[in-house]
Amino acid sequence: MPELPEVQTIVTGLNDILKGKTITSTYIYDDMVIGYPEKEQFIEKSRGKKIMSLSRKGKYIIVNFDNNQYRLVIHLRMSGKLLYKERQEGREKHTHVVFEFNDNTDLRFNNVRKFGRLYLIKDDKFENAGNIDNLGLEPLSDKFNLKLFKEMLNKRKGMIKPLLMNQEFIAGIGNIYADEALFLAKIRPDRKANNLKEKEIRELYKQLRKILQKGIKMGGTSISDYVNALGETGKFQKELNVYQREGQKCKICSEEIQKKKISGRSARFCPNCQK
Ligand SMILES: [Zn+2]
Repeated sequence: MPELPEVQTIVTGLNDILKGKTITSTYIYDDMVIGYPEKEQFIEKSRGKKIMSLSRKGKYIIVNFDNNQYRLVIHLRMSGKLLYKERQEGREKHTHVVFEFNDNTDLRFNNVRKFGRLYLIKDDKFENAGNIDNLGLEPLSDKFNLKLFKEMLNKRKGMIKPLLMNQEFIAGIGNIYADEALFLAKIRPDRKANNLKEKEIRELYKQLRKILQKGIKMGGTSISDYVNALGETGKFQKELNVYQREGQKCKICSEEIQKKKISGRSARFCPNCQK
């Protein structure tokens, strides 16, 4: 699933490309991916809208239209993709929604597993756009400081890895960056959040922000099928220390990377480096 760095890469790329373009037609080939409103309304209300900018909240992509009355909110979930193409280029398999622009280009929403969702909201009624209203703090924002992170963790009795992935706790972190940040902070993923030492919290805070920034800088992580809007892969997969490296040697101490189920999701860690 695309996480904060992947979604940010898509948003930054599309922002440059789509700014100023007007949607002339919208085609929906599978209603299932339309979260709000109804298909006909979605098609009608998106037509004629001019794109001003794109932004991100957690793992959501937000397309802001010119009068700010309407916004298109996109959640890619598992394998959703937004692809920018010349209209003449053949459509990919599993293309469920196509936005046609006034200059013979398209933005295509492609999703093999149909878990992704598109919402067209009016007057900032974000309650109609999935869980966007319930998202926690942005980890790269100024608001998210060390003191606050400490307070947030002290109130939580659960394990640290699922907590980092809880979108209502912090927005945008998933399996990849949670595993990697915990490795760099030398903390086992099954440690209780309120049991972390002061020094560990400081290290986790630092590594979390560092790794997300690095992920953005490298254009995200392409492991299964993530690509940006131009179909290009990211480079962060080369930096991975533990994610999907179970059974391989730790890059620091050569111990075998372990995999363990925590709250139903796989966590990877080095049993030697992480305490
Ligand atoms: Zn190690």
